[in-house]
Amino acid sequence: MKNKKLAKTTADQHWFEIKRQLEYKSNCYGSKFALVDEKYTSSTCSTCGYQLEKIGLDVRSWTCDHCGSAHDRDINAALNIRTVGATGIAFGKRDK
Ligand SMILES: [Zn+2]
Repeated sequence: MKNKKLAKTTADQHWFEIKRQLEYKSNCYGSKFALVDEKYTSSTCSTCGYQLEKIGLDVRSWTCDHCGSAHDRDINAALNIRTVGATGIAFGKRDK
């Protein structure tokens, strides 16, 4: 893991294998498998869909300017990922 290029390649291979196994097991048990793009999951309000312009990694909680909902960054992201996984509807970067 001292070699950064080799470490990244090894980590990528592990993630690929985890994804492959999850997809395989999901198919075996008749479950739905979906990949979710993590972009904007933290900065999009899980209540109304309003998207913050930018949110720093140090911001752990925030309040939606549109609906006033208070969000924990990680829980909000998890709720958005669940919504995308369950409905296939993703939040994306909105045009200004
Ligand atoms: Zn909101």
